Amino acid sequence: MSIERFCDTYTPTCDYCGAELPDEFDFYDAVDAKKQAGWHSVKDEYGWSDYCDECWLERCWDNE
Ligand SMILES: [Zn+2]
Repeated sequence: MSIERFCDTYTPTCDYCGAELPDEFDFYDAVDAKKQAGWHSVKDEYGWSDYCDECWLERCWDNE
């Protein structure tokens, strides 16, 4: 899970390139913001990772 928490704000962060979305004040708003931006959360052996829309496309290409 890569929503970083600073005091009362949550910042969705791409684990791959470090891109960030604007701060949200509610965890679920941050999750919504990721969905609306086309980001994806993927669970692997290390836990949850977030990919921004661009990194998600690259990941798809890599898998082919
Ligand atoms: Zn990214």
